[in-house]
Amino acid sequence: MCGIVGIHSHQPAAAELYDSLIQLQHRGQDAAGIITCNEQLHIKKGLGLVQDIFEARHMERLKGTMGIGHTRYPTSGSRVNEEAQPLWTSVPNGIAFAHNGNIVNYPAMRYEVQENRKRYLNSYSDSEMLMQLFADMLLKHLGSGPEGSTHHNQFFDSLCSAASEMFTLVQGAVSAVMIIKDRGLAAFRDPHGIRPLVYGKRENADGTVDHIFASEDTMFYMLGYTRVRDVKPGEIIFISHDGSFNSRQFAEKSFTPCIFEYVYFARPDAMLNNVNVYRSRLRMGENLGRHWLRTYPDVRPDVIIPAPATSNTMALALARELGVNYSEGLYKNPFIGRTFIMPDQAQRRQSVRYKLSPQELEIRNKDVMIVDDSIVRGTTSKEIVLMLREFGAKRIYFASACPPVLQPCYYGVDMPNSDDLIAASMTHDEIASYLGADILLYQTLEDLVEAVTRKGDHHIDTPCTACLGGGYIHLSEEHRPCVS
Ligand code: SF4
Repeated sequence: MCGIVGIHSHQPAAAELYDSLIQLQHRGQDAAGIITCNEQLHIKKGLGLVQDIFEARHMERLKGTMGIGHTRYPTSGSRVNEEAQPLWTSVPNGIAFAHNGNIVNYPAMRYEVQENRKRYLNSYSDSEMLMQLFADMLLKHLGSGPEGSTHHNQFFDSLCSAASEMFTLVQGAVSAVMIIKDRGLAAFRDPHGIRPLVYGKRENADGTVDHIFASEDTMFYMLGYTRVRDVKPGEIIFISHDGSFNSRQFAEKSFTPCIFEYVYFARPDAMLNNVNVYRSRLRMGENLGRHWLRTYPDVRPDVIIPAPATSNTMALALARELGVNYSEGLYKNPFIGRTFIMPDQAQRRQSVRYKLSPQELEIRNKDVMIVDDSIVRGTTSKEIVLMLREFGAKRIYFASACPPVLQPCYYGVDMPNSDDLIAASMTHDEIASYLGADILLYQTLEDLVEAVTRKGDHHIDTPCTACLGGGYIHLSEEHRPCVS
């Protein structure tokens, strides 16, 4: 998972790109970068948090009213500075590129780009491969257009043709923003719309219009933009240098956006695919509460405590449903990163106690229900249960707002391999025993999908639930091992 943003503005773009990346920091904390464009491309990127990478002297150098930015959590390639995004290439025109997603058939596509198209790849980043493939296709389509496709309508036709052709070869999740030098800003999404991409605009006092594309709309209000809509699956939008807006759906398949965005990744104040993330989490808690009432009609905890902070919303709704007190009995230190994002298991286990501090008065001598958004490896959940026992909980019930995570993700989320997914190797009872919980309750897949799709003027066919036991999109067996 990564965060991307693209801005086509009438004022210098660098500061707004920086502010946007701060608002997308939760989507990737490994690396970040910005490329802006005037007569040339200006680049600054590095490893670490956004606020640690960009200094005033860098911002001064990032000139231009158009630019793109990226926060990176690696899912393909290695953790090196060269692979931090945005990336750029010189042919055709000069292209800067930022990508959120993962290419499933990467080895075959790498071969296609290097051996068949003779474009050198300097890394094992699927984003670099994707950029070079797109650039090669765009070059071909520009060359075949009338008068070298100099008019922007013809240029847009070439862009659409390149995107359409690319997705006949590429399998996987792609949301991308792209500067094409002397042409404009483009944004596109794969035909299944797996990863999010939202479009907004800002009307200036002089009548001009600025445009923004981002993984989440969380920075729109702050920057004065209004959310217009999501980029559609298989759609490319192009804002040309003269400010004209062009869009086309070059391909459309079943619309299957990632359900985990709603469970965990996206910020609660985001609206993705026309579904409000906060409200969807309330519905997850509501459905989980109803499931509890059906399954354990005679069992009520004394208190419901979320494993902060994503699950606060779910726990609140669940508490309402059961008529039980909600308590923030675990304090979360906001200055320590998510355990899911930390690379090493021992580090992750140790970090739970740094991060979460139990409040004894909320726990001692009580039957406690702990609510978490999901159980992935189980290490954090086990530590939480242990801490609650140490702080005097009588009985501990564990409720997960997400069904068991059974399989890895091949679409840009760095899930562990099956070997490390607790639900892939243990039965329900074994997991409850491993966690040390008196009762363990998982949300059903049907209830989760219902919670996400119940409201909103969305066009989701069915969300991707592949890691929860649903089918993999585009994946035949031979593609599964291809993710690096
Ligand atoms: Fe999201 Fe899971 Fe599908 Fe990956 S496999 S896109 S994490 S729902």
